[in-house]
Amino acid sequence: MIHRTDPAWQVLTWQQQLAEAFTDPDELLSYLEIDKNQLPPTASAQRKFGLRVPRWFAARMEKGNPHDPLLRQVLPLEQELVSSDGFLLDPVADLEQAPVPGLLQKYQGRALLITTGACGVNCRYCFRRHYPYTRSTASRSRLSAALAYLKEATDIREVILSGGDPLMLPDHHLQELGAALEAIPHLRRLRIHTRLPVVLPDRLTPELTDWLTAIRLQPVMVLHANHSRELSHRHRPALATLGERGVTLLNQSVLLAGINDNVQTLCDLSEKLFSVGVLPYYLHQLDRVAGAVHFEVTDQVALELHRQMSARLPGYLIPRLVRELVGAPSKTPLH
Ligand code: SF4
Repeated sequence: MIHRTDPAWQVLTWQQQLAEAFTDPDELLSYLEIDKNQLPPTASAQRKFGLRVPRWFAARMEKGNPHDPLLRQVLPLEQELVSSDGFLLDPVADLEQAPVPGLLQKYQGRALLITTGACGVNCRYCFRRHYPYTRSTASRSRLSAALAYLKEATDIREVILSGGDPLMLPDHHLQELGAALEAIPHLRRLRIHTRLPVVLPDRLTPELTDWLTAIRLQPVMVLHANHSRELSHRHRPALATLGERGVTLLNQSVLLAGINDNVQTLCDLSEKLFSVGVLPYYLHQLDRVAGAVHFEVTDQVALELHRQMSARLPGYLIPRLVRELVGAPSKTPLH
């Protein structure tokens, strides 16, 4: 048996590493050498939305620090039980914009497929944390309706694979899905929204790269990192290969109180992203999902942080500060 601290741990497949992810808050805190009495109880929040953290990501957290910004993104806390006006189960009205189950069309020319409800990490602020994945996912059994919709909608140029995290699907499933999309002549681009390579760099397998770079559709990968410590030298080789082979690499972050709401952290993140070949794309204001009140940053603070970033960094390292407004024709810049 391979012990988790053994160097052989590094050669486990990404699926094996996922199977070994932390799912018990007490076990994670024990690994991080944090006395659980230092933190409020987690049980109720854990029952509503379970903890899930790959060990590679946990290893990037600072031991002994209950306020670690990576830990705070994933640890269920009592604060999640606080309700507040305007914080909703479906804050961006996903379900109202699904012409067929598992396919969302919010913006002109683009459609989004909810490919799976699974994620490599459960982020406490996730705007889809209450999404009814069991009945609203374009799973294999429901895919034909989504594909039929895409064939009819000849104005759609780009399909976004989302979830959950689409890279939770095995490569052969992605290949089947990609082949079905390639066969729709008016589609030009395939975009993948994923956090999995950030929290588990081994997900960027050669097979995934080969598929993504051989597909007829122009590939875009939008990663999701919120803090510079989420990225390391382990990301560089696979991302460099993707970039060299024509995949446009972008990042979207969420502005989160206590995680990345200071200018130095945001600048460090932009610098780190660029060092691994990824451009900062969006900095999102929090979608007001029930359970995430404590992560909200005011617009005034967000704008000031963005202004300070703009004063320190070149323009290509400044993400667009946006929020999603239901019914708007695109993400809405903050002014
Ligand atoms: S990885 Fe993305 S979809 Fe999954 S919980 Fe985190 S933010 Fe939500």
